[in-house]
Formats: sequence, structure tokens, C-alpha cells
Amino acid sequence: MIFFFAVAALSIFSSLHAGEIRIGVSVIRPVQNAEISCEKKCVSGKNKFSKASIKISATQLEAVYESKTEKAKKILVESPGPIELSYLRNKRKYYGKLSFEPSAKGLKIINICDLEKYLESVVSAEVYDLKNYQAYKAQAVVARTYTLANVERHKRDGFNLCDSTHCQLYNGYDNIKEKAAQAVKETRGEILEYRGRAAWTFYHSICGGTTDAASEIWPYEKKPYLKSVKDGPPIRPYCYKAPGFLWRTRINLSKFEKFAAAKIFKAKLPLTSVKINARTTGGRAKNISFISGKYSKNISASDFYHLAGRYFGWEAVRSTMFDIYFEGAYIVFYGKGHGHGVGLCQHGADGMAELGYDYTQILQHYYGDLKLVRRQL
Ligand SMILES: [Zn+2]
Ligand SMILES: [Zn+2]
Repeated sequence: MIFFFAVAALSIFSSLHAGEIRIGVSVIRPVQNAEISCEKKCVSGKNKFSKASIKISATQLEAVYESKTEKAKKILVESPGPIELSYLRNKRKYYGKLSFEPSAKGLKIINICDLEKYLESVVSAEVYDLKNYQAYKAQAVVARTYTLANVERHKRDGFNLCDSTHCQLYNGYDNIKEKAAQAVKETRGEILEYRGRAAWTFYHSICGGTTDAASEIWPYEKKPYLKSVKDGPPIRPYCYKAPGFLWRTRINLSKFEKFAAAKIFKAKLPLTSVKINARTTGGRAKNISFISGKYSKNISASDFYHLAGRYFGWEAVRSTMFDIYFEGAYIVFYGKGHGHGVGLCQHGADGMAELGYDYTQILQHYYGDLKLVRRQL
């Protein structure tokens, strides 16, 4: 695999206008009203103000600029400095523009900002617990690439990506980590490509020793370049020092039985046993049988991981690399790693950086089939 750098504009990113990205704010939790406050003056149409409030009023918006009230179909707020937005219980700082529109659920808020500034925030939020600078640089390239691969994910909603973990965590321009901001600046424009396009650079927290091919975790994903990678020596993989590398979760059997009846069997059946039928190359559970007497239901481990996460909380079953035991009144999961296990292992990247590898070597390790290039975005 050859890494090379090129400087060229990439025309396929036509949905990004002048390096700006449109991020949907609080898409999962609908917002009915919001407050704005600006360090420098804010501008919206003919209004100049330092404080405003915006709420839904029937099918349009009602905005109060200082003391002047106006109704509008759409509001676009700009400021040369940061704009502080308060909604629900959040108070967050944004750069660029904020757009407000009424939608069926409430206020549709979109932050239109510079891609690189957005990435400084994403990298700060996504790798908050890593130590080594080269791991931040690897994450910066991966997050930039993932962003570009996903620019059409919320096309129907009128923006590129949302601000939740559904896309990438973005909390506005607060709590920016110096290492993250520096890593984004130093890798400006650098992305990983597969056949000339930004690749789907999935990443996760801790692989537990081996990553898996996307095709084994999500058979519907056709991403041949996301392969299984041994994350360093088997006894001491690069991520072994990560807190939570090994985990154990006990769940009361009666509680687990309720979960199985509601989410797996979808019928009031007693649970006799749970078995892992097949494993991935990396050692993750691939397919699980839920058995009730003579009846059994098979589901993919990936589906189980999501169902269990929503039912018991995401800290209960932290990955699909686990063994199952029954101990007295409990079902016990002994596991390794955290997250889906595809693409870059964030703590593995940190471990590699600690051993002296630079970010290009880290990226080469996890994404051996991709090319690192520099584009004018
Ligand atoms: Zn999303
Ligand atoms: Zn790892």
C-alpha cells in the first residue's frame, strides 16, 4: 500500500459549499424555542442585536430581537464572533451561521460552519480520553473523511450531518481541546480515499485485540476496504491499556427474560438458554440463539448489541466480543472492547502513538487499502 499526497480540488464534494458544512442541531430531541446571545453583534436581515429569542408560532417563527418582535418563515443569524445558543438545557457556542425554520416537530436549527472548525469540535468530543498527539492527528483525518463520506446522510432533512452519535458528536465550539484543534489544523484537507472517493472510515473506542471486516458485522455494508486487523501482538494489543478493555456485566435473569420476551421472542416465552452460534474472524459473536424449550430464535449479534444497548443502557453490553455464562440467578457477559469493532480502534491508535508510530503509520495499520491524500475542500 502506498501513501501519497496530492493537492487537488475534489469535485464530488459539490454538496459542500465553500468548505462549509450544515449540521442539524438537536435532531433527536425536538426544540420549541431558543435564545441567542452574541459577543459581537448578531445580524439577521435588517436586525442588529446582541440578544434574541426565537419560537414556533403556528406554521411560522416568532423572533424577539431585543424588544422588537417579528414573524418570519425562516431566520438566518450571522455574527463575526461566536453565537451562544440556549435550547432545552443546553447552552452552546457556535461559529458561522445559525438557521431556524419551523418543522413538524419544532424548530429546525442548522449550524452552517467551516468544515475545519466543525472538526475541531468533533475530534475534541470523540477522543476526549486519549493521551497521544499522533492519535489525535489520526482521528482528525478519520473524522474529516467520515464527514465527507456522509455529507448526504441527512439530505432529506436539509443538512449534511446531525450533531448526535448517529453521525458524529458535535457540541458546538465549547470544550475544544488544544491537541484536537492543533491536529485538525496540521492535517488540513487530508482524507483517506478508496478509488478516488472519501472512504467510510468507521471508528470505535476499543477493539479488544482485533478489528473486524465491515462485511462480517454489517453484511449489508459493501465496504471491502474495512478489513479485520490484528491490533498488535495478541498478548498485548495496542489498546490493552485502555480502561474498560476487559468488562463483565451481570444481569438478573428475570430481567433478562423480560428483555428476551419483549425484544427477541416478541411473545411471553420462558428463556431456557442463550447460545453464540458463530463468531467473526476477530472473535466477536456473530449470531446468537435465544432458546425457549424446543423453540429458538436466531439474531445477529450486532442486532442484539443495539437492542441490549437501548434496553439495559450502552454500558451493559459494551461490544459483541463476549462469552455468555449462567451463574445462579444471573446471566453474565464476559467481554473485551467497546464499540462495533470496525475501522480505527481509538485506544489502539493511542497505544501505537505511545510506541512511537506517527499518524500516517496508524492510518496505514487500520485502513491498509486506503490512500491518504490532501484535497482542497
Ligand atoms: Zn445523523
Ligand atoms: Zn484495539
